[in-house]
Amino acid sequence: MNQTKTALITGVTGQDGAYLAKLLLSKGYRVFGLHARRASPTVSRLEELGIENDIQLISGDLTDLSSLIRVMEKSQADEVYNLGAQSFVAASWDQPLLTGDVTGLGATRMLEAIRIVNKKARFYQASTSEMFGKAQSEWLDEKTPFYPRSPYGVAKLYAHWSTINYRESFQMHASSGILFNHESPLRGEEFVTRKVTQALAKIKMGKQSVLELGNIDSERDWGFAGDYVEAMHLMMQQKNPDDYVVATGTKRSVRNFIDSAAPIAGFNLEWFGHGVEECARDRKSQKIVVKINPKFYRPAEVDVLLGRATKAYEKLGWKPKTSFDSLVQMMMESDLRRATI
Ligand code: NAP
Ligand code: GDP
Repeated sequence: MNQTKTALITGVTGQDGAYLAKLLLSKGYRVFGLHARRASPTVSRLEELGIENDIQLISGDLTDLSSLIRVMEKSQADEVYNLGAQSFVAASWDQPLLTGDVTGLGATRMLEAIRIVNKKARFYQASTSEMFGKAQSEWLDEKTPFYPRSPYGVAKLYAHWSTINYRESFQMHASSGILFNHESPLRGEEFVTRKVTQALAKIKMGKQSVLELGNIDSERDWGFAGDYVEAMHLMMQQKNPDDYVVATGTKRSVRNFIDSAAPIAGFNLEWFGHGVEECARDRKSQKIVVKINPKFYRPAEVDVLLGRATKAYEKLGWKPKTSFDSLVQMMMESDLRRATI
């Protein structure tokens, strides 16, 4: 008999939470979401995907073990996806303890709640390429040593090892997806890709004067969030729990991202100047569109991240479907639409 599965997603109101919830609903799952209390509503991403009424939100917080135990009891989840986190690297230097508490200890609390309520529930941990930080080789995979470069990376590494430790100590089905950067029209506005597409759209509509950025030479392996949540689900369907790198295997600089997005917004950019003096202006209007503001430099930078997802390809049968150009197009067009409202 084909029984309905139940999933619990922490971080359901975030970018990945929304895409994952949609995917699981389409597969017939009952979906519960841990809903952290905030002063203003946080369900806009679920509304954008039209699924806000299909998910059962249960109040709770990753800093509160008792709420996690209650959520496990209420949901009776078969699969728990731990996506909740203080996920913004730059903010983690301003709030290192909160980041450690939510992003690091939060995962252990969720694992404890599972161990207490139903040890058989499967667990997915949202690990990250930021754990590689100061990359110890050109290509990064499951065997590459970690070297986190921010309180966020350090907290995620703790959560990653906790996941492995619960797997080995208590024979729990606990897996970890080491996901490289993934973006979408639902990406948080503070992350560089979304900051760029949103600003270019607003500048085009006369609603913003200039886009200010930090280190535009850093390189990332950017994929589409909609593709990456499929890898999360596949990991949970495997007989044995494991860790997997999820990446596209191509890298681009922030500058490359801007150069790809700008023409879609109708800009023809030329770069001039060096270092903090570097700018990009539109050839037609001669207006400065992009400039550097050192306030966006980070105390320690992750210069380049490039993933090798061979294990995910071979064992999960997962492959990214969306190219870098399609991703940029999707994000740029979505922000152009939003800017006209
Ligand atoms: P996101 O958009 O920032 O979403 C984070 C989610 O965590 C939000 O739903 C947020 O709720 C929730 N949250 C924050 N503090 C919480 C707390 N104390 N208790 C319960 N929930 C809390 O992140 P994302 O881009 O979807 O990423 C999902 C996960 O994957 C995160 O763990 C992230 O660190 C990790 N990751 C992301 C990437 C990437 O490139 N996107 C790459 C690797 C790993 P509110 O909406 O109420 O704030
Ligand atoms: P991260 O890889 O999780 O830190 O994702 P982000 O999108 O926040 O940053 C990606 C890269 O873009 C990092 O190397 C940042 O230093 C760089 N970057 C340059 N300017 C900015 C900016 O204004 N905002 C953000 N968020 N990142 C920037």
